[in-house]
Amino acid sequence: MLWDDTIAAISTPKGEGGIAIIRISGDKSFEILEKIFKRQNPNSDLGFSKLNYGFIKDGKKMIDEVMVARLKAPKTYTCEDIVEINCHGGVVVSQKILELVLKNGARHAEKGEFTKRAFMNGRIDLSQAEAVMDIIHGKTEKSVSLSLDQLRGDLRDKVNSFKKALLDITAHVNVVLDYPEEGIDDPLPKDLRDNLENVYEEANRLIESYDKGKKIKEGIKTVIVGKPNVGKSTLLNSLLREERAIVTHVAGTTRDVIEEVINIKGIPLVLVDTAGIRQTDDIVENIGVTKSKEFIEKADLVLLVLDASKELEKEDREVIEKIKENGKKAIVLLNKIDLAKKIDLKEFDLENVVEISAKDNIGIEDMEEKIYSYIISEKVEDSSEKLVITNIRHKTALEKTKEAIKNIFETIDAGLPMDLISVDLKEALDSLSEITGEISSEDILDHVFGNFCVGK
Ligand code: GDP
Repeated sequence: MLWDDTIAAISTPKGEGGIAIIRISGDKSFEILEKIFKRQNPNSDLGFSKLNYGFIKDGKKMIDEVMVARLKAPKTYTCEDIVEINCHGGVVVSQKILELVLKNGARHAEKGEFTKRAFMNGRIDLSQAEAVMDIIHGKTEKSVSLSLDQLRGDLRDKVNSFKKALLDITAHVNVVLDYPEEGIDDPLPKDLRDNLENVYEEANRLIESYDKGKKIKEGIKTVIVGKPNVGKSTLLNSLLREERAIVTHVAGTTRDVIEEVINIKGIPLVLVDTAGIRQTDDIVENIGVTKSKEFIEKADLVLLVLDASKELEKEDREVIEKIKENGKKAIVLLNKIDLAKKIDLKEFDLENVVEISAKDNIGIEDMEEKIYSYIISEKVEDSSEKLVITNIRHKTALEKTKEAIKNIFETIDAGLPMDLISVDLKEALDSLSEITGEISSEDILDHVFGNFCVGK
């Protein structure tokens, strides 16, 4: 065991709920439980990995009616003895039990400390620990599914296969350097070179997958713009498939700031400033236009809604110009296509135009297809079944690996001394070890686990 202290925290979210779970991990977990848990039937066997009914008591004082489980090391989340107390999901009661646990010898856990122990005790590697957090923060099923692949160890296995290829080469290089009398003059035999090329290409593919992975994980910052009454709120509602924003015939009723996430084929679109969608009087109207321009600047994707049943107006032209000027990714939605079409966009060279009726749900699927194919490039899409990285830390490490391998090829092809290869081989291996956490600084660990919640 690496730690001699026992940690505890409330692992369920703060607030009222059906149950709350207080988790304890470390050597003293069972001892602490013994002091505060009174079984209904004192003669029954507490056992392991099963729920036991009873009461938490502070001396004679009853705190709550609970179910508790004892989980025996090493086959637990942290690889340590763990106790989980399921109590009633009240803020006061769960806090009281936690205090009692702390009073009896546990220390309050820091953010992510349970998962950190799982990592430090060798149950999971750093990429798997990161996956735990990504699952918690997952915005769509697809993003959670990518994180689950990572939690299963797919990235770790891939990294280890890269390392194996590099270690084979290291062994060969060492023989060449240490035993010059053997007369091995081939700096890199063909099979080893093929393996190295393979690592280079696969690392490169993973690096390229990051763009897609990031979109799936973090979402696309999207803003819906367009002048009043073109149908933005109606569209928003249709996308959310529930009446969250108020739609009326009078311009200017969407006042509350609404930030929503919609799921386009697994890619989360984070809709920003959905309130800026409409403002009432002239002054606010102006602010509205300025604001929407501001948001256009910040967004990754602009959905510009135009009223197809009307001719283009100055305000429409202004927004179109703004989008073009910023070189923003934009999709133009010609709404109200159920009415007679009057709009004419010939003066602009617009690529992505979709005709829709937000009110009658026409063209919404076409729009979703368009958004998806527009933000996810086909090249990456080809590899959709393969491993995708979602973490900038992994991308940076793989870039270092790729660079080092490039240097190795250059050294060999230029016929330079072999010991130069050793330096790059080490660099490539170290970068890969950063992903799995075999090489990690306190800074990196603080950064990774500091983003967790307390109790995980
Ligand atoms: P916003 O100001 O851009 O948010 O526009 P709203 O969503 O509030 O819509 C303004 C008006 O246009 C409302 O009366 C909607 O019912 C109507 N509207 C929205 N979409 C359509 C559509 O596709 N077809 C028709 N005919 N009317 C629509």
